[in-house]
Formats: sequence, structure tokens, C-alpha cells
Amino acid sequence: MRAVMNTNNGIRAIDTDEPDGTGVRLSVASAGICGTDVNFAATGVTGFIYGHEFAGVADDGQAYFVEPTIYGGKCEECRNGNPQRCTEPGHGNLGIYSNGGMAETVVVPEYTLLALPAQLDVKTACLVEPGAVAWHAVRRAQVQPGERVLVVGGGSIGLLAAAAAQHRGFDVDVDTRHGHQLAAAERLGFDQPSGAYDVVIDSAGSESSLVRSADAARPGGRIVSLGVYQNMMPIPGTLSLIKELSYVSSIAYGQHDGVREVEEVAFMLAEKPEIAQTIITHRYRLKDAQEAFRVAADRRSGAIKVVIEP
Ligand SMILES: [Zn+2]
Repeated sequence: MRAVMNTNNGIRAIDTDEPDGTGVRLSVASAGICGTDVNFAATGVTGFIYGHEFAGVADDGQAYFVEPTIYGGKCEECRNGNPQRCTEPGHGNLGIYSNGGMAETVVVPEYTLLALPAQLDVKTACLVEPGAVAWHAVRRAQVQPGERVLVVGGGSIGLLAAAAAQHRGFDVDVDTRHGHQLAAAERLGFDQPSGAYDVVIDSAGSESSLVRSADAARPGGRIVSLGVYQNMMPIPGTLSLIKELSYVSSIAYGQHDGVREVEEVAFMLAEKPEIAQTIITHRYRLKDAQEAFRVAADRRSGAIKVVIEP
């Protein structure tokens, strides 16, 4: 079969062995390119099939999203619905230092599967993964009725965070500075920032976005950080101090009250098809993975979410 790997010549769709092992076999229908994948490609991370945002169809015709967290299920974190914090050996993620979904075929553990609502196209369902990252950030913020939310950054995670907050009934604006992202935010009904916010979700993950977030937060406000900082996180000191800002970390997604966050997001995407129609800007066949990654890495391309269709 063909699959996307990082090679000595960069990202390529290459011939590789069919997956084996125990689990459920899916024909992959869609796999999104994440900023993490682009960073992996740029820094030469290699040795596994890329892709942790993917959905496919089983041999019996049922369409599934794959929740890519691999966890033990026995530790306290798993038992409390936080598999993203699993402390057991073997905890990890499909597509991150282990084989993922940018392939014609995958075999995945049954517990990762989420049967799709009938209204959600499997070619769109790869968006459930970044959607759940965003959904979880809104939950982590513990937004209360009447509170104002600002999302800083208009990439796929930012727009999905705004969509999640809006879907849950909150007043939300988006602070974005790139023309195509601004157009997407407007299309989804989000205004530009004005005034102060109770909660700021920083989806851009840079020093300047943290400053913008702290500036926009009201005194006593909360900032949810969705950025990945390799070393230190450059929080603006004096501004955070005089406003007494709280910083909340958020990674991946889990379950609460017996409900999987990925399931809540699948229903949101099914109910509001304009979210995926706006955020998925480019689609490529698997053999064109090299071009797909080039476009995903190029801000001038107008790309928000690039999807590979094996
Ligand atoms: Zn665990």
C-alpha cells in the first residue's frame, strides 16, 4: 500500500507493507495535515507513517473517526476520563512517533473508533481531531454563561475553538491578522476584537500572541494556552501580574460525564456543515502528499486546513 512518510528527500507517498496486528482495519478516506506534521517534516522527524487526524471506512461499510490517543485505561487519569494524561507505559498517539493515518489502510484498536453520525461525511471527519483539541480548550476554560470569549489566531484550531464556544452559546470574537483567515472568521459569524474578555484562548502559540492575549483579557481573566512551547512559555510578566491573570493549559481531549469530546465535536460538525466547508481549504490525493505539505506550510497559499484523501 502507499503511505506518507518523511524521507531523505522530504515528505513522499511511498510503497510500504500493509498494516498487520490486531485491531480494526479501515480504508482511510481523509487525513488532515496538522501544524505538528508540518513541524515534524521541517525538522526531519522520520521513521513512521504521518497523520493523527483521520477517518475511514471499515470492511462492513461503517464509517469511523479514529481518536488517535493510545492509552492504558487503568491509571487514575484514564479512569477519570483524561486518557490524554495517561501515566501508563505505552501511552502515545497514532501518527506521532508511531504509524498514523496518512495511508491507504490502517489497523487501529477498536476503542479508538467513533462511528460517525449519518450527516457527517467521512471525507470531512478528519476535522473531528483538531475540533476536539479546540472543544477541550473551551471546556478547560470553564466558561460561564454571559462571559465573553476571544480566540487569538485564525488558523484551523482557532476557528474551531471559536466554533466550539459559539456552539455552546457563548459570545465569541476572533483576533486574526491574515486576510484569508479573517474572511473565514467573518464567514462563520465571528467579529474582530473589541473591549475586554473574560476568557482568551490563544491558538497561535507565540510570544506575540501571548502578549495580545494578556492585553485583551480583563483583570482577573483566564487565558487558555493551546500553543506548543519547546522550552519556556514567554508569559508577559507585569501585565499578567497587575491583572492577576490565570493561565490554563490544554492538550488533546478526553471524556467527561461518560461522553467522549470527539463525539460532541462530530455532532457539531454534522449539524453545522459550514464549519468544515470554511476550514477545509485544500484537498489532495495521497500521491500528491509532497505538494499538500508544501501548501500547508505556506501561509501565502491561503490554506487553513489541508486534507489528504488516500
Ligand atoms: Zn492510563
